[in-house]
Amino acid sequence: MSHPSARTSDPAAGPRAPVAPLSQYVLKLASRCDLSCDHCYVYEHPDQSWRRQPRLMTPDTVEATARRIAEHAATHRLDTVRVVLHGGEPLLAGAARLAATATTLRRAVTPVARLDLRMQSNGVLLTPEIADVLVAHDVKVGISLDGDRTANDRHRRYANGASSHDQVRRALALLRHPAYRSAYAGLLCTVDLANDPIRVYEALLAEEPPRIDFLLPHANWDRPPARPDGVATPYADWLLTIHRRWLADGRPVPIRLLESLLATAAGGSTGTEAVGLAPADLVVVETDGTFEQVDSLKSAFHGAAATGLDVFRHPVDEAAAHPGIAVRQSGLAGLCATCRSCPLVRRCGGGLFAHRYRSGTGFDNPSAYCADLAALIRATAMPADPVADRSADSLRPAVLDDLGSGRGSAESVGQLAAVHHGIARALTVALSPAATADPVAAAGWRLLVALDVSAPDAVQAVLSHPFVRQWAQRCRAGATGELPHLAAVAAAAAVRAGAAADLVLPVRAGAVHLPTLGAIVVDTAADTVPVVIADGAVELRAGRRRVRVGPAAGPHPDRWKPARVARTDDGAVLLEDTDPYRDCFDLPVASRLTPAVADHWTRQVERALRRLDAEAAGYAAGVRTLLRAVVPLRPDPSGRSRSAVARSAFGAVAVTPVVDDAALAVLLVHEVQHLKLDAVLDVCELFDPADARRLRVPWRDDPRPVEGALHGVYAHLAVADVWRQRPGAEAAAHFRRYREWTDATVDALLDLGSLTVDGERFVRRLRAALDDWR
Ligand code: SF4
Ligand code: SF4
Repeated sequence: MSHPSARTSDPAAGPRAPVAPLSQYVLKLASRCDLSCDHCYVYEHPDQSWRRQPRLMTPDTVEATARRIAEHAATHRLDTVRVVLHGGEPLLAGAARLAATATTLRRAVTPVARLDLRMQSNGVLLTPEIADVLVAHDVKVGISLDGDRTANDRHRRYANGASSHDQVRRALALLRHPAYRSAYAGLLCTVDLANDPIRVYEALLAEEPPRIDFLLPHANWDRPPARPDGVATPYADWLLTIHRRWLADGRPVPIRLLESLLATAAGGSTGTEAVGLAPADLVVVETDGTFEQVDSLKSAFHGAAATGLDVFRHPVDEAAAHPGIAVRQSGLAGLCATCRSCPLVRRCGGGLFAHRYRSGTGFDNPSAYCADLAALIRATAMPADPVADRSADSLRPAVLDDLGSGRGSAESVGQLAAVHHGIARALTVALSPAATADPVAAAGWRLLVALDVSAPDAVQAVLSHPFVRQWAQRCRAGATGELPHLAAVAAAAAVRAGAAADLVLPVRAGAVHLPTLGAIVVDTAADTVPVVIADGAVELRAGRRRVRVGPAAGPHPDRWKPARVARTDDGAVLLEDTDPYRDCFDLPVASRLTPAVADHWTRQVERALRRLDAEAAGYAAGVRTLLRAVVPLRPDPSGRSRSAVARSAFGAVAVTPVVDDAALAVLLVHEVQHLKLDAVLDVCELFDPADARRLRVPWRDDPRPVEGALHGVYAHLAVADVWRQRPGAEAAAHFRRYREWTDATVDALLDLGSLTVDGERFVRRLRAALDDWR
């Protein structure tokens, strides 16, 4: 049988140039095990090469291995080398041989590099005598545990079927002992869908591990993962159940797979070969001294991990140059064509190498867990720049077509609102590591995490506020001094939820600002003020008095500056003249309005929205779904009506005072088109971002970049469409002007050659809408 991507090297062909140095070694100290787990890839999978291995690694083999590792580390000037004592079960070697092995390795390696010595064990043979050896030789041990007794007994049994659960728990109790705690590296749990994920999580957490890792059961395209009941992504669903609980618990322990997904989302490397594109610079040394590729390959086919090299005759450089090892160090280039063109490849990396195997094509395939990995990555994504993190398939083609008509059904614009919410949420979550270093923000983060479980609608309402996203983006851009506002975000959610909380809130310009709700005037020169939140109100101390303010506390005009609201049939639009983050447009925002002026604004917004329902129903859904706030601007000195949106304050439209409802309706449609296109561009690349060319457009004197031209035609097409519905000669003239502007620029965009496939599809829909009007 030929296995093209797991090529076996021919040692007779002479030495090859090393591809990249190897810094991680798995030493098979024992080739047998005292357990007989039925999911074991060493004994229960196609590769049965363990049968010809000696039971234990001899001291000579350890010596030769140590010399090779040191030689390689010196040649490549490696700072650190990691060696994992493995098996079978390495504790079968016994305390004395373990101590001798550690001594040999340290004696050889430490003169040239730091030695990070570890062990992976089932734990059942761990005794105080062995634990003493581990501590004395600074060996950190990871223990395999699949969850509670039921979960662990499902696979991890002795050959006679007896449970190993008590023995493993006894070993973990030993490792928790202060004398041995330094040797406790963590727990490794193999996922089994039959186990309840929360019970597994809780059972693992109860062992107080410094770290948890989850392993997907070994599978490939020939032996696909079990998918009970035809569920498309059951492994992702299982892990995401834990992910949600883990977040809600405030991440009490690092979970390597989940943290690796976060790390790749932030552009970092993972420390695990399960996900990401970081090179897998690892080689296995079998009990007899032969070099092998990573152990999990044994799940593919007999001999899959073999290299034909050994520590006695070959330096590590030759193992590193072995094609099967080198390909796993080559990042993107080592992946199949499907993975290379996958939008998630940077974070996924094609999954674990062994999971890609299929007879005939070898490892030149996506992972057999592809669907699960994609679902996991999307659901756990907290990108470094979530706004720039685009996933081309986040909008279905039918939605893109619908929006490309210029209009957009409630369902389509609902998807755009979900895109915005996802970004705002990801931005906020991405701040959490920095927030934990600030006591005010940290308390806010803990409250927000708790409310996300108990009152998710309240959290969503606040996180979707345009100026929460604006604030989060400022913090992400480096304004870390503004992190305490996270407490105000949490406080607003708590007030909305009617929850109880004690918090310290930041004071800005003499007020505490609660996004979506309003501001509380405070008498303090301090930067913060303590508050008690209960029953939809905020209690603060004013001298000796306690003052209760907020939506449920009744009017308190000196203290409470509520957000004004324009009511619509199915919701509300805020008149935002208070939030400190609203000053993000190119035009100056108005100060807090008097009650009479605010009343005029809210009524005008309500009438303009009703007018849209009557005369431009195709746009009303977009306006109602996406418009969260109207920000009054200062009147323009020229007397002209001006309006603006900011991508970082998605959902807000800023407007100067407008003469009548009809004009406001047109402005709202115009600006919400920009919001719609911004949300499309957040997840879908419509043009080549590297194309710096500019287009002449009829509505401006200066040539516009492709994005600017696209925004222009999308907004002007909608404005033309609104004027098209209105009677009279003046409306007809407006219609003709906007249609001509759009017409010319749509053709110029189609001719430019800068549009992506999605972009061309989108702009052709605009073209079709214009043609329909003829
Ligand atoms: S303890 Fe590990 S090596 Fe031993 S049978 Fe179980 S999975 Fe295999
Ligand atoms: S999600 Fe699937 S196609 Fe994309 S990189 Fe991962 S395995 Fe490959």
